[in-house]
Amino acid sequence: MSVQVFGLPVSRGVAIGRAVLVASSRVDVAHYFVEPDQIVHEIARLRVARDVVCAELESLKQAVQGDTPAELVALLEVHVMLLNDEVLASATCQWIEERHYNAEWAVTAQLDALTRQFDEMDDEYLRERKSDVEQVAERLLQALARGGLAGTSPLLRQGLSADQGDAAPLVLVANDISPADMMQFKGSVFRGFVTEVGGRTSHTAIVARSLDIPAVVGAREASRLVRQDDWVIIDGDAGIVLVDPSPMVLEEYRFRQRQGQLERDRLARLRGRPAVTLDGQRIELLANIEMPGDTPAALDAGAEGVGLFRSEFLFMNRLGELPDEQEQFDAYRSAVQSMRGLPVTIRTIDIGADKPLDRMATHKTEHDHALNPALGLRAIRWSLADPDMFEVQLRAILRAAAHGPVRLLVPMISHPREIQATLEAVNRARAALVATGTPHGSVTLGAMIEVPAAALMLPRFLQHFDFVSIGTNDLIQYTLAIDRADEAVAHLYDPWHPAVLGLIANTIRMAQAAGKGVSVCGEMAGDPEFTEVLLSFGLRSFSMHPTQLPSIKQRILRTELSALAGLAEQVLTADDPQQAGLWGARKVRPALSATSAESP
Ligand code: PEP
Ligand code: MG
Repeated sequence: MSVQVFGLPVSRGVAIGRAVLVASSRVDVAHYFVEPDQIVHEIARLRVARDVVCAELESLKQAVQGDTPAELVALLEVHVMLLNDEVLASATCQWIEERHYNAEWAVTAQLDALTRQFDEMDDEYLRERKSDVEQVAERLLQALARGGLAGTSPLLRQGLSADQGDAAPLVLVANDISPADMMQFKGSVFRGFVTEVGGRTSHTAIVARSLDIPAVVGAREASRLVRQDDWVIIDGDAGIVLVDPSPMVLEEYRFRQRQGQLERDRLARLRGRPAVTLDGQRIELLANIEMPGDTPAALDAGAEGVGLFRSEFLFMNRLGELPDEQEQFDAYRSAVQSMRGLPVTIRTIDIGADKPLDRMATHKTEHDHALNPALGLRAIRWSLADPDMFEVQLRAILRAAAHGPVRLLVPMISHPREIQATLEAVNRARAALVATGTPHGSVTLGAMIEVPAAALMLPRFLQHFDFVSIGTNDLIQYTLAIDRADEAVAHLYDPWHPAVLGLIANTIRMAQAAGKGVSVCGEMAGDPEFTEVLLSFGLRSFSMHPTQLPSIKQRILRTELSALAGLAEQVLTADDPQQAGLWGARKVRPALSATSAESP
């Protein structure tokens, strides 16, 4: 019977596929398809791993016999039995034979299926055997990782995962996916994502949007209501997951998928057109990127530069070893060079909160135990707490600036002391390069305005920085005291809140009055619902994911700035700014829909 699960729409579009349910701890297990002629080899890998684990358990049993409690010995025997049990062994092989899953994926798929069966058992003793199966599967995964073609290398995972052949499309359903794991799914087998936790501007959602893959987060019942291998529709526009849909519903969504593709193709034709309003005002459209490899997509979408390079993603998925100066320099230079003279805004590392470093990273302990990570040691606070690491990054950025225009952007800065400390660190990094005769370039310096304290003391920032960039994702979080990654308060996360709009409008006005550059690089910049309102506040520079750029450009091409006169005032004084904003924009220009059929 068909079931609906409700969550938050975070990445547009429709995905249809079979569900792959993955426990959070197993999201980073390799998922890829093996070629038909490799199936025998893959099954052999699994058998070898099983034999290795059996041998390990046998020798452990020998070693502990004697004065060891009989229960422990019995437990090890149970584990050996499980390893050889048909339900685990042959069913796991079946995932490889029939679905062409790699061995690690097959083990976790079967583990998830068994776990669900255990959970449904009435007998408490049997229910508790679940942990034995989990331990055996864990040992198998470890043995697979040790034995040659292991699936734990991100590169291997990316390289092998994209070819799906004729297999049914797949969608991933998990309790949570970290932003770092989400990054790994670029070009992967999954056509869509559902998570049980997360908010609209959580970094996992942001990465899903940047990958342009339909996603729903905060779908709390997903793991309970979706079963391994169910057919699932992910409606990323409405935030609904349809499980086991009827043929009629499937057909309707397939039609919507085709319509979405036609719309994307149509918008792509705007690529070469500058973003100019009907009354001739040029608007700058920049791209947000996570890795240097994202720059072709930015150029393809017609971006005039990179407005936000989230450099922290270079530090993730590295098993704790952080990139040194040379590696960072190479990455920044590659981004700068591939943008061919267009400006690249590199934000210094914004680690912490929902973007922790890998499990083994040096700062793990401070972060894992932070009571409230969003208010803890993150972004510039982290960088200033680790001056050596910060200077390494600053030197690498200054060196990349010798290869093209670079803007250096500092996240989450909120205190005059932090401004001073940051400027001193930049000076020290530059002095070190001068002292060693290392080539470097000049950069313009910018601050992200994403904490109310910064917006409220903007004149101080404007004295010290060349430009500001408004990070609306965090500005909303910190102004309204709503954790952006917490689905329990997601309904209170309100970009239309008068306090938020007031801070944004003031920041734009004051920066412009001081003759400093100002842009918005939070998710509001890429949301067509806010385009007119931000234009009416005076914003002329928007930075967003490349995938969002065409629809924002279309809106700009259809906007007459003079017709927006009064909209800012209306919105900022309204009891219900959303009504005022949407109605005001509609009043000036009825045919606003990004999905309307005629060309701009
Ligand atoms: C923001 O806070 O709006 C922003 C762009 O930074 P991030 O989403 O990476 O925190
Ligand atoms: Mg931010």
